[in-house]
Parts: sequence; C-alpha cells; structure tokens
Amino acid sequence: VRVRMVVGNWKMHGSLALCREMVPAMASIAHPAAALVLCPPAPYLGEVTRLATGSQVQCCAQNVADAHGGALTGEWSAGMLADLGCRYAIVGHSERRRHYHESDHLVAAKAQACLEAHVVPIVCVGESWIEHQTGQTEAILQHQLGTLLALSGWRGLIIAYEPVWAIGTGVAARPETIEAAHRFIRSRFAARDPVAGNNMTVLYGGSVNASNAANLFALPDVDGALVGSASLQSDALMQIYTAA
Ligand code: 13P
Repeated sequence: VRVRMVVGNWKMHGSLALCREMVPAMASIAHPAAALVLCPPAPYLGEVTRLATGSQVQCCAQNVADAHGGALTGEWSAGMLADLGCRYAIVGHSERRRHYHESDHLVAAKAQACLEAHVVPIVCVGESWIEHQTGQTEAILQHQLGTLLALSGWRGLIIAYEPVWAIGTGVAARPETIEAAHRFIRSRFAARDPVAGNNMTVLYGGSVNASNAANLFALPDVDGALVGSASLQSDALMQIYTAA
C-alpha cells in the first residue's frame, strides 16, 4: 500500500541535543495521513527510537550492512535495527555510492538483508547531471532498478528518486521532471505486477524545502519526500510534514 511519508535524512549532522529537540517537536504534530521518519547518524538511533516510542515518529538508519553478522568491524545489521525498534534503513544513497563505492549489486544485497530482517529498505536511485543532460535518466534508472527487481521481495521496497544533481543545491528538479521519473520507476515495477507497482511508495529527494514541498506532494506519483538539509530545522521539517 502506498504510504505518504516525509523522511528526514540528517546525513552526518546533528547532536544529542538536536534529537531531544526534534523528536518531541515532530511527535507533537497530529497527522494521521502521513508518516514522519527521522534518520539520525547511527550513534543517535537508540536515542531517537527511545524518544519516539509511542508517537507517530519513526526511526530510520542511513545505512546498513549486507550481512546479518560476522567479523565486520564498523558495520551493523538490519537485525540490530529491528532489535532497537528502528523500522527503516536508507540503502544506496548517492553519497554512499559515490564516496564509499557502493555498487548496484551491494545496494541490492543490503536491501535483501533488510527484507530478511523485517526492516523496510528505502532504496535511493537517480542519475547524475551529465546523465540527465545527455538524456540517459531512464536508462540509468532502468539499470539501478534491474538489480532490485531481481529480489524476490521487491514489493516490500520503498524507492526514493534522488537526482544527484538536485541534492544540496537548493533547487529541486522541476515538477514535470520528477513526475516523469516517478512514473517511469512505477512502470518498471508495474510491468512485473500492476497492482504492486501501483502500490509502491516512491519518494522524491533533492532540495525539498518548506516552500516547494506542497507542489511536489501534489504530483500524482510522488508519495512523499526524502529531505536532507531542511530536516535539520524543526520548523522547516514541520512545515514539510504538514504539507504531506
Ligand atoms: P537535500 O535536501 O539537502 O538536497 O538532500 C537530499 C538528500 O540527499 C536526502 O537524502
């Protein structure tokens, strides 16, 4: 079932003080129609989960391992997130693909590990500026989605379309660009299973802020947003969430 959601990705920002400000502020908004999900850096996942207990605020990791355990220093498993009560994990963010060389294959393995541990993977896809400019968006998305469609549990994924060129720039992609990409993403899943494709939750990410959120949420194939810098300010995040 399509879920309306606003996901705040703090990236490597924030503090214990921000967790203690943000979670109660978000928990105070009654919004029965949309989920509010916070993705603090890993050291704060326990605190956010604890503070969010009993509210509509949910917790999400920014990354997760592809394995369930082992001698893998510095990693954490999806099972550990589930143990904590953290129901979501971002997988394959473009910053991880770029700075930590995560391949489509590794991203799919991480999504699979999440599905096995009953953690919902929010898988990021999207093209670079050059790919966008040269008309390769659909080919890139097709490739990125191909490894995901090979997972037997693909119906349990949430997809975030994040055109790399719109991240952190202050300028979101144009609504028609976003809608076209979301429609294409949905069509890839619908080609396998029309009902499941129609029910996939597809989020947009890339310079979503309090001013553009309502316009983006009005697009028929946009189910919510993956918000970066605006998610570090409780008033901005509140306005985005209220618009969802
Ligand atoms: P900004 O909202 O800061 O552009 O970041 C988007 C993003 O990468 C969210 O995952």
